[in-house]
Amino acid sequence: MGRFTERIHSMSVHFQKNVKPTERLASQRKEIDDTLAAFALSPTQLQEVKAKMHMELERGLKKDSHPTASVKMLPTYVYRTPDGTERGKYLALDLGGTNFRVLVVKIRTGMRNSVRMYNKIYAIPLEIMQGTGEELFDHIVQCISDFLDYMGMKNTRLPLGFTFSFPCNQTGIDKGDLVCWTKGFKATECEGYDVVDMLREAIKRRNEFDLDIVAIVNDTVGTMMTCAYEDPKCQIGLIAGTGSNVCYMEEMKNIEFVEGDEGQMCVNTEWGGFGENDNIEDIRTRYDREVDGGSLNPGKQRFEKMTSGMYLGEIVRQILIDLTKHGLLFRGRITERLKTKGIFETKFLSQIESDRLALLQVRSILQSLGLDSTCDDSIIVKEVCGAVSHRAAQICGAGMAAVVDKIRENRGLDNLEITVGVDGTLYKLHPHFSTILKDTVRELAPNCKVDFILSEDGSGKGAALITAVAQQHHIEKQEPH
Ligand code: ADP
Ligand code: MG
Repeated sequence: MGRFTERIHSMSVHFQKNVKPTERLASQRKEIDDTLAAFALSPTQLQEVKAKMHMELERGLKKDSHPTASVKMLPTYVYRTPDGTERGKYLALDLGGTNFRVLVVKIRTGMRNSVRMYNKIYAIPLEIMQGTGEELFDHIVQCISDFLDYMGMKNTRLPLGFTFSFPCNQTGIDKGDLVCWTKGFKATECEGYDVVDMLREAIKRRNEFDLDIVAIVNDTVGTMMTCAYEDPKCQIGLIAGTGSNVCYMEEMKNIEFVEGDEGQMCVNTEWGGFGENDNIEDIRTRYDREVDGGSLNPGKQRFEKMTSGMYLGEIVRQILIDLTKHGLLFRGRITERLKTKGIFETKFLSQIESDRLALLQVRSILQSLGLDSTCDDSIIVKEVCGAVSHRAAQICGAGMAAVVDKIRENRGLDNLEITVGVDGTLYKLHPHFSTILKDTVRELAPNCKVDFILSEDGSGKGAALITAVAQQHHIEKQEPH
């Protein structure tokens, strides 16, 4: 026993004399901790994010500040959630996520599980996403044509709901000018133009079939409607997928730039734009700025770039590059792979942060990316992923706390019970994101009891439900009773 301790003692003396490993590791450790500390937000900072989001929601609703607001607060002309009387057969498009899809949705009765869907996924090649608007819409119509053939439905003129997950300045349920492209899209000659017109014109150009385009739908709204179909308390829709966005039911009287003071309307917040007026620069890091600078829309969608699936992996990659530059990772070797934009997808965060995943597996994930890591490297990479996803979930939660508290105040309530319908792979598959998000909402909005329910295909089902509700509304307006 005595001899054994003696040996350890002499070993450590030996180490210290030569390379001083413990000291060097401590200083390295400090550098890593300092880097990641920028992602750890204090309760006060989170309160500030909530307060700022609240202010921007208000600014977006006011007539004077609406046109320039960072959180755009777009009206959707959806006046109510479904009441269960919706039925019919609808065509739906889903554009703006990972996949472009065409769907047929059949709503049979107002009862649970009475929605049937048939859909087909189509690729949108990069050159079309970033080509001309005409090419993009021609491609969409070609996919619709293929789908109608496939379903044997070329001659049925179905009402269509178009889920178009980009900010649109709507002036009606079927009228909306694209404000700006976000995420991976950048087709020319679309911004400022009516999306429904562009689709109608492409259908005319093809001159092969006719469609009755009834509604243009944001994916958040589709998600809220889908969940509201089953839970009437659902009055908020959240997306944590490729992008990040929220919609909710606002009082008409608060939406200053829309005519009318009665009842409610769903507002698409476009909260991804939060921060565009430089008001969250204090929590943005140099890595966020790096990701923003290398994106298709620098300066835009700053909140989205800190919270959504399209960007989290990129933030991680930027940190890894920086740590490697400083000799703190991968033996200081920056490989070509590590320099490649997009190699580090957000799904790797989910895998690496999984509690069940052994470090050896983290290492093999990194190896599959061409990154040769030691056990120590694997630990650090896992910490980096955790710091980035944790902050994303927390600020998303702070934003949500602002939304639920605003709804509570709108209604003059001390306490509010409300449900959020959620869609998005980041929320659904990341091992901790949803838990951290919910915990943050609970801490920052203690007077609200907020339930989160997963939507199943809000973009498809929701588009049909909105189309159904819009048609009913149309009929009610034509035949007042
Ligand atoms: P969309 O929002 O585009 O309709 P999704 O909700 O499927 O579609 O989100 C896609 C995004 O989710 C992509 O950015 C992708 O990187 C990310 N993602 C995919 N798989 C995972 C995962 N397992 N964990 C976290 N994020 C993921
Ligand atoms: Mg989607």
